[in-house]
Formats: sequence, structure tokens, C-alpha cells
Amino acid sequence: MTTRTRFAPSPTGHLHAGNARTALFNYLFARANGGTLILRIDDSDEARSSAEFEAAILKDLNWLGITWDEGEGSNTKGTAGTLGPYRQSLRKEIYETKAEELLDSGKAYHCYCSVERLEELKKVQLRAKRAPRYDNLCRDITEIPSDTVPVIRFRVPDDDEVSFTDAVHGEKVFLTKEIGDFIITSPKAGVSYNFATSVDDALMRITDVIRGDDHLSNTPRQILLIDALGGAIPRYAHLPLVLGEDKKPLSKRNAGASIAALRAEGYLPEALVNAIANLGWAVGGYKSLKEMVEGFTLKRISKSASVFNIASLKDFNKHAIEHASLTDIIKLIEPSFPNTGTAELTSATELARIGALSIADIVELLAPLLSPLPAQKPEARAMLSESEPLISDAIVAVNNLDTLDDDSYKVIIDELKAKGYKGKLLFKPLRIALTGRAEGMELKDVMKILGKTEVVKRLGSAIKEI
Ligand code: GLU
Repeated sequence: MTTRTRFAPSPTGHLHAGNARTALFNYLFARANGGTLILRIDDSDEARSSAEFEAAILKDLNWLGITWDEGEGSNTKGTAGTLGPYRQSLRKEIYETKAEELLDSGKAYHCYCSVERLEELKKVQLRAKRAPRYDNLCRDITEIPSDTVPVIRFRVPDDDEVSFTDAVHGEKVFLTKEIGDFIITSPKAGVSYNFATSVDDALMRITDVIRGDDHLSNTPRQILLIDALGGAIPRYAHLPLVLGEDKKPLSKRNAGASIAALRAEGYLPEALVNAIANLGWAVGGYKSLKEMVEGFTLKRISKSASVFNIASLKDFNKHAIEHASLTDIIKLIEPSFPNTGTAELTSATELARIGALSIADIVELLAPLLSPLPAQKPEARAMLSESEPLISDAIVAVNNLDTLDDDSYKVIIDELKAKGYKGKLLFKPLRIALTGRAEGMELKDVMKILGKTEVVKRLGSAIKEI
């Protein structure tokens, strides 16, 4: 059977490192097995779902390079697929029909218990130190109250067990007597998460469910439902929690770890994909998505929670900048330099990207070179106060050359050294005169980027300022 996985986000918040990891592992698993990835929008909770969040999730997935084959939004097939609709809010009739089928076959029943009765039942059970669960009263009801609209409950088989082998957590066994007949649809709340998911996973012929382990305890209910619906039980893999650096679970409220926020901070998608993939999977160095597909297996995923660490994201970003095409990097820094021509920006970026940790880093390195130099700060001016002869000699040395190319820097420096300037009294004043800063790119690159005219101009204004 061909592999079919699904990523099923609820559009109730932004994609964060945790649920992006779920999407990524579904993608890697599908691609590694020549299978199909489905994107399903779990918007059955219509009050909390929004079109804005949905669009943002799709945008983030596209940006990360995660492609899918069936379902909402842009996908590899160009058409949604034949087992849709792939949006729970459009599947209400399907859930109703399936609930009716379960009623007809006696696998589900109407329950007329009032909220008050259920609350009282819960209180009694808790007082007796028992886990609260429905007492199945309406299973055998004979008198149907005329004034109550019933909910539909699933009849959980008595004294049985549900077992499955989770790809991450191993053998799992749940006793049905601990589950209790649960609600699958209600007139007020609509379809339950467990029922909608089971119907969808069965009808969409999902073979492998990969999701967060907060759903582990839902799995026995879903296995019972899928079985009752006549579907094939998928394999399950429950991924351990992702924690923030504060050791608290990442959540949709944790804005700092949202993919959109990290994109806005200038991280490259490849860096995020690497940081996310390493949450529970020892990827082994910086990898492209394609390389990840080749090495992906659910078997090596850790059972314990992992921490989304900004330091390692930064480190991956350095690799991503090294690996990215110059054109891609230019696209990201262009907005910061609206007045710089493409050719100039390209040659400057080629030099500035080397060893840069982030796009912001590149912008910061280039800012003093590509924008007019502001007046020297008093500290810088003080450092230049002794350097007038050096700067005058530098102007002469630069003017002796036609243009500034790769070899010019050595020629200029050798000439200045021959005149007796050395060490701190040579390099630092030149750098300050040219960039207004004591640190930054190699002086050689600074001169190349500025070019002869600008170098002479900046050295000239430094003298005026001294
Ligand atoms: N919409 C659910 C969630 O976001 C999906 C759970 C599942 O994968 O079954 O948690």
C-alpha cells in the first residue's frame, strides 16, 4: 500500500517550531517512502479558526519548502485530490452520515443525559478517587425523553484492550474499560475532534499518522472508531513535545518561536528546517531537505522532549547563508539598500556574506559602505586626531592607482608601511576614516566595495573632520 500521511493543522494560531516539526516529519516520511502528503485543514472548531491563520500556515509551509500533494492550497498535483474536501468545515454531512451509520449498526447510541447529571456523576467519581468517565447509562435506555435533543455516543467495547506499536513510543496498551462511551457528535458542539479525525483518516486512506504526543491518549479512541467505520488502522508515530528555552511547551501563544516571527527576524528557511529537524532527530550536520529525505527514519526519533534552541538556529543560519545562492541573499538585503544598484550590491554582498551569522549581520556590515557615511562620532574623531599624516599619505597612495582591485590593498599598505606607519596606527585609523567604525569587514574588502573615488572622498572628509 502506498504511504499516505497528513498534516492537519487547526487554523487557530501561527505555525511554531513544534507544529512545523510535525509538518516536516510528515513530509520527510512521505517523500522517503515515495508516498503522498495531504494537507487537511482541521477547522471544525469554527469559532476559533480563521482564514488569516490558515493563509499564514500555508505561507509558512511554502516558505519552509514543505510541499504537499493533496489538499488545500498550492500542492504538487495542482488539483486538490479525489478524497476531499480536505477541510473539516466542509465535511459536516460526511460526519453526519457516518454517525448515522454507526447508530444503525448499534455501534453508537443517542444519549439524553443532562449536563447536570454528567457533572454530578463526575463529582461522585472524583470523590471516590476514580477517573471520571461516562457510566453508559443511555446504552440501554427504554424511555426516550421528549424534551431533550440527544448527543451521539460511541459504544466502547467492554473489557477489551486496544494496543498498537507507536513508531516512537513502542508498544502501547489501553484498556477499554478506562475509556467510557464518548461523545462523537452533539447538537451544540458539533462533531468531536476524535470523530472528525477518525472519519477523515479512514476516508482519506491515511496509512501513517505522525503528530504530537499530546494526542497519544486520543489514539485508542481513534483506533476503535476507525475500526467501527470499516477503515484500515494507520500506523502511529507520536512526536515528543517541543519546549521553549524556558522549558515550557511551545504554544501558539509563544510568538517568539512562530515561523513568521523567525522569518521576519531574517532567518533563512533552510536554517529553520535544520533547527526543526533536529528536534528529536539527530540529523547529523547541516543538510538540505533532499539530503534529509534520504536519511529519514521514524526509528531514530527520541522519546523525550526537546528544546528549541535559538543558539543552534543561529548556527544553522550561518551554514544556510554559506549555502544559499547569492541571488537569494540579495533578495533579502535589497530592501535595506533601495538606492544601491544591483551590480554594486552583488559584489558587496559576495564579500560581506562570508562568515556572516545572519542577514541582519550582512546589512550591518554593508550599511556604512553603501550608504553615505554620517559625520564621525566624537570618539572616532578623537582616535583620528593623530592620524592626519597617515590619511594624507593614504590619499596619495590611492590616487597613484587607476582603480582599486584585489591587489591594490597590498600596494597601498606596503607604501604606507614603507613610510613608517604600522600596526594600530595604520589599520584602525584607516578603518575609522573609511567606515566610521572600529570593527567590520576586512579593510581590503572595504576598499574594494567603496572603490577609488569613494575612498578618496571619505579619506578627504576625515581630514576635514580632524
Ligand atoms: N488539528 C489537530 C491539531 O492541530 C491535529 C491532530 C491530529 O493530527 O490528529 O492538534
